[in-house]
Amino acid sequence: MAATNPSHSPSYDDLMGLFPPGSDLAPDGTLRIGGCRADELAERYGTPALLVDEGALRARARRYADGLTARRTGGTVAFASKAFPCTAVYRLLAEEGLSIDVASGGELALALAGGTDPDRLIVHGNAKTDAYLGAAVEAGAGLVVIDNFDDIDRLERILATAPGREQAVLVRVTPDVRPDTHEAISTGQRGSKFGLLLPQAREAIARLRGSDRLRLDGLHVHIGSQILDTKPFVQAVEAVAELGDFAVYDLGGGLGSRYTYDDRPPSVEEYLDVLTAAAEASLPAAARIIVEPGRSMVADSGVSLYRVVTVKRGGEETFVAVDGGMGDNLEVSLYGQRFEATVATRFGGGEPCRLVGRHCESGDTLSAGVPLRDPRPGDLIAVPVTGAYTYSLSNNYNGARRPPVVFCRDGRSRPVVRRETYEDLMRRDVV
Ligand SMILES: *Cc1c(COP(=O)(O)O)cnc(C)c1O
Repeated sequence: MAATNPSHSPSYDDLMGLFPPGSDLAPDGTLRIGGCRADELAERYGTPALLVDEGALRARARRYADGLTARRTGGTVAFASKAFPCTAVYRLLAEEGLSIDVASGGELALALAGGTDPDRLIVHGNAKTDAYLGAAVEAGAGLVVIDNFDDIDRLERILATAPGREQAVLVRVTPDVRPDTHEAISTGQRGSKFGLLLPQAREAIARLRGSDRLRLDGLHVHIGSQILDTKPFVQAVEAVAELGDFAVYDLGGGLGSRYTYDDRPPSVEEYLDVLTAAAEASLPAAARIIVEPGRSMVADSGVSLYRVVTVKRGGEETFVAVDGGMGDNLEVSLYGQRFEATVATRFGGGEPCRLVGRHCESGDTLSAGVPLRDPRPGDLIAVPVTGAYTYSLSNNYNGARRPPVVFCRDGRSRPVVRRETYEDLMRRDVV
């Protein structure tokens, strides 16, 4: 389960290439993120901490938005916010003009608190409750994505109490496409709990066309996450094209990120080239295309900073244990995601180590076989590409206090989420 890394020593460029663009080393060799020294950030905010290069995140949002606009008129980029549902991130991406995907009542509340224009909300979920759908309608959400027939019944009922209201919807199609990714994050295959297979989708389309209150705008498809090959995206477009002509096609997210030296994901531009070419070939020329990147929007703007607590040598492996782990990064345990790492003040490779967390499970490994240069207790460890699905999956296992989120830009840092306190851990207790 635990991911292994090649035990070679990475070159400076290999390793720095995993950190947000603009990261560098201070004259004394200490890693800087957004111009901020890792040691000063650790001093000020403590460890573990999730650092976000704000400039890199804004640049990625623009690259997606400009890239889609350049290739297709009337395209929309929606951030799949479950990848990093923090109000500061919603606010930043709202400022950049993106639409926002939510997948629960909680994400809806966070998106609204982060200043998202309700019209720019796309409401997802395979098990939407009355409360969630009611809140979405009440907020005036732009699009609701129908995942099942109960969604149609619920929405009809909710809208019956809001005379004159009409809700625009899409139908989520299960295209029967299986990308090469971990089973837990593959969603478009036959047998997926998400969406409707083509025959059921046709039935839902027919029902929606007969509805007075629901306006069927188009179709949605999303086949999974951390997808490194563009072919399945094309297959998904071809599958939805079989259902007829619509005004809107939401083609989902799923583009993979580069976590390790060996990963070669398509660039944002290559991905958009393939997707818009597939749309050009199979979908109506006037249709509005939506893309929903989550991981590839935020992953490589984030860096996790830890402090080494102990180094254990003499056994088969050198264990470097830090003050975080599966409490702040579940990606390794959930889907075997591989991460690289470096000592923040002795940048580069060295002795192959097993970088482990402090939690009470052997699976609590951040990176196996990762080359670290002379790691010692008290050192800072930087793990790059942790902007996606770490904040959202963070937890209180072993009474861990969830880490702060710190935005870094032009040599200045600001906390946008503080570290939890022990009082926070007891806040919900009814005594
Ligand atoms: C999670 C999700 C996405 C984003 O997936 P990434 O792999 O993070 O890009 C897009 N659309 C839907 C419906 C999702 O559930």
